[in-house]
Amino acid sequence: MDIIDLRSDTVTRPSKGMKKAIYNAEVGDDVYGDDPTVNHLEKKISEMLGKDEAVFMTSGTQSNFSSVLAHCNRGDEIIVGESYHICGDEAGGVSVLGGVAMNTISVENDGSVSNNSIENAIKPDDPHHAISKLLCLENTSRGKAIGLERIKESYELAKRSNLSVHLDGARFFNAITELKCAPEDHASLADSISICLSKGLGAPAGSLLLLPKDLAKKARRIRKLAGGSLRQSGILAAAGIYALDNNIDRLKEDHIRAENFKNDLVKFFGDISDKSIVCDTNMVFFTDLSDKFNNIVPFFRKENIFISNWSNDTLRIVFHLDIDEDAMKKTLETFQKFYEPSKRSSD
Ligand SMILES: *Cc1c(COP(=O)(O)O)cnc(C)c1O
Repeated sequence: MDIIDLRSDTVTRPSKGMKKAIYNAEVGDDVYGDDPTVNHLEKKISEMLGKDEAVFMTSGTQSNFSSVLAHCNRGDEIIVGESYHICGDEAGGVSVLGGVAMNTISVENDGSVSNNSIENAIKPDDPHHAISKLLCLENTSRGKAIGLERIKESYELAKRSNLSVHLDGARFFNAITELKCAPEDHASLADSISICLSKGLGAPAGSLLLLPKDLAKKARRIRKLAGGSLRQSGILAAAGIYALDNNIDRLKEDHIRAENFKNDLVKFFGDISDKSIVCDTNMVFFTDLSDKFNNIVPFFRKENIFISNWSNDTLRIVFHLDIDEDAMKKTLETFQKFYEPSKRSSD
């Protein structure tokens, strides 16, 4: 029986068309700069975003790491939202391996960081302090698409304050889709950008780091240091090219399906006050404060639906290209099956 996997959009598997592109990929040794497919992918994304250069990375974590270390020297610090991926989900790499301190600031409800907290975090030039060097933004952040006006405010403050800006755009194209803006409009508000090919875009692996020419050279060295310089990586880059050509426009389907799913769930529950259901881009966050919640993940697993906890009372349900209308309906029915008895008894 087919599994419906809603734990993340990282679980997507290459489609037939993508596999064909991988099969047909022309390759060379990318460490010599000889892989035509990698070169094509790097050029393609640079042109799409209006940036100097792109470097094909093995993962989003490696991409963020290489970017931060290209921008910063040991003893510098980044200013980063406390819930952002670089801060909490990358094993502290920039500090552990890079000697770069993390100055964490609070994140607003919309996923952004306020100019007020950025300003308070910037340290004066004083030997007591690490040197504030780089502002790290994130979009989407936990599914939330942050508006370009907010990003622009942060970017302009950073520039006035002599900071560079890195955007962790793991789900950059989900943000673009939701904001209905051109990729370059967002890309112009950061010095470097990291984009995952392996999430909603459906590639098996790989991320792209965009940055100015001088930093690109440095980032390639750091990628090497991190063990991320691959040889015939055109095999993976072919999947990336296919993803950029075929899987960006369709992201809006995931957003619509997530929104419809949320609305159907809200309708089903009516006004039960111990639950909250929120949709942001391709993610639905379902919170249930009742005891019943503890049994939901195993119940769904028996129905071959994989969901996972976001926190101890919340699920994150992620829509992606392997979740079609039927899968969405079956998930909804399983919610109804799980909650129906208690819903009846509370009527
Ligand atoms: C997934 C993700 C990353 C890292 O990607 P990996 O390829 O899993 O290393 C970075 N930032 C954000 C916001 C992400 O969601």
